[in-house]
Amino acid sequence: MTWHDNDLMMYLVDESGKPITNFPAKCPVCGKEHAHILMHRFSDRTGFGTFWAWCDNCFSYTHCSYRVPKWWINPAFLDLDRLDSLVDYPHELQDKIDSWVNKLLE
Ligand SMILES: [Zn+2]
Repeated sequence: MTWHDNDLMMYLVDESGKPITNFPAKCPVCGKEHAHILMHRFSDRTGFGTFWAWCDNCFSYTHCSYRVPKWWINPAFLDLDRLDSLVDYPHELQDKIDSWVNKLLE
């Protein structure tokens, strides 16, 4: 199974960048609770950064430049050298990432 780009994955967050639910979330593509997100803010001043979303059931994903919302805090456990446009690395760490995001949403 290989990852395939699907913009529907953006529906995991609303227009303000707020997730609609905790993670793992219901995947907008396959409907299974296997969807995850990650954000990374490059600049605190502008909020510019990156957004990833992926589903480890149907392997849909998306990656884009993003205005990262204020509630997001970059997790310290990520190896920034391994962050790229793919979701292989976030997929590896998805349990940790889900816990992080859920905690930020509390
Ligand atoms: Zn899916």
